[in-house]
Amino acid sequence: MINLKNLEAWFITGSQHLYGEETLKKVAEHSVAIAKALNSAQQIPIKIIFKPTVKSTEEIHAVCQEANSAKNCIGVIAWMHTFSPAKMWITGLKILQKPLLHLHTQFNRDIPWKDIDMDFMNLNQSAHGDREFGFMMTRLRMKRKVVVGHWQDGEVLERIGAWARAAAGWHDWQGAKFVRFGDNMRYVAVTEGDKVEAELKFGYSVNTHGVGDLVKMISDVRETAITKLCDQYSQQYKLTTSLRKGNSQHSSLREAAKIELGLRKFLQQGNYKGFTDTFEDLHGLVQLPGIAAQRLMNDGYGFAAEGDWKTAALVRAMKTMATGLKGGNSFMEDYTYHFDPKNKMVLGAHMLEICASLADGKPSCEIHPLSIGGKADAVRLVFDVAAGAAINASIVDMGNHFRLLVNEVQAIKPPQDLPKLPVARVLWKPYPDMQTGCAAWILAGGAHHTCYSQNLTAEHLEDFTSMAGIEYVRIGKNTDLHQFKNELRWNEVYYQLNQK
Ligand code: MN
Repeated sequence: MINLKNLEAWFITGSQHLYGEETLKKVAEHSVAIAKALNSAQQIPIKIIFKPTVKSTEEIHAVCQEANSAKNCIGVIAWMHTFSPAKMWITGLKILQKPLLHLHTQFNRDIPWKDIDMDFMNLNQSAHGDREFGFMMTRLRMKRKVVVGHWQDGEVLERIGAWARAAAGWHDWQGAKFVRFGDNMRYVAVTEGDKVEAELKFGYSVNTHGVGDLVKMISDVRETAITKLCDQYSQQYKLTTSLRKGNSQHSSLREAAKIELGLRKFLQQGNYKGFTDTFEDLHGLVQLPGIAAQRLMNDGYGFAAEGDWKTAALVRAMKTMATGLKGGNSFMEDYTYHFDPKNKMVLGAHMLEICASLADGKPSCEIHPLSIGGKADAVRLVFDVAAGAAINASIVDMGNHFRLLVNEVQAIKPPQDLPKLPVARVLWKPYPDMQTGCAAWILAGGAHHTCYSQNLTAEHLEDFTSMAGIEYVRIGKNTDLHQFKNELRWNEVYYQLNQK
């Protein structure tokens, strides 16, 4: 569904005419070599396109304009091999709308101790050339990522790769459409938000359809398609006995498959990248979509329950960023705590809708009553989630700005079986510890809904928020509550003063 190799970042090297033909020829050769290496680095999931060295105000303006309108260009990587007087960059940077990564590197890794002379010094000037460039971006108050190190260093490639993934998520949001079936869960606050501001800030639009529009599409699904999908279910999952063909609840499995087929068609026809539903508005739907939401998420759609469009969009962006990485991303909710003093942890789950990409092993496909909403028993995938490093991310609307929170967590293998729990579940320990992690999250106004990721890190989301120009708050190993409260207070002032 998402192919990152169709996307590209442009590698732009800055210089000036002062150096003369010979030096500029060398600059171009070196730039080509670096761009080629970045392009083939397995850490960087997108294409890196070499662009000829820019040496004047006009050339810089032209390449920025070109980057803005190039459909597949998701960002620009800039490097000053030599000195490039930065007043030349003002008009270009002022119009640049694509994310920028400043690669502070040098063609030669080492100083050639025995051979170094003034020619070498005049060619290899990034140590000061990049400072001049950095000043201009800071002077323009530009958000960007600075990556420092030799271009063949694996660490450097990792940093660029993380930025490229964030840029892919950002690019995917531009012009994206998300559909809500029904409105928000009644009276809930944190899932609300300003959809106009979100479209201005994030580039995606959110619009509502009455659930009847979806019901219509579901009712048109053919019996043969339902049979085919039920066969797929029985191959991919451990189907509980009552759901199997000829058994008492097989008709419920068919109903679930029908819902998935109708929903999928609705999303495809409307060119939507994700959706929300709400158990309070299911008129005409026999079941709350369970397995349908779980499988659509697994195919890359964003989803969140109870009308939570901010989380649905975030799930989609994070799935895009994580394309090709091992592990999954899912809508999640902090559900229940384990407060054993020696082993405190959170149980994350939802009523039904945890993405199958998180499953540790083959999920079982089961049917159970829904304890809320008064609908028929719903089919869902039930599974455990493997241990390992993970993050929870949440976007909240602070009224005058959006805040994205990340909590780094450690997922734990369930210490015991949970035979009666009829939903997919994850157990994790928040960093720096349960008390601090949860207190910080609550102080920052973080939602109960999140996107849980096994394969993205705080770095991806920090880069992403920098592209979006929104507040980023991280709760991790070094979080200290006193400093954290200060950070929130200081950020309040910053975002109050920086209203655009
Ligand atoms: Mn919920």
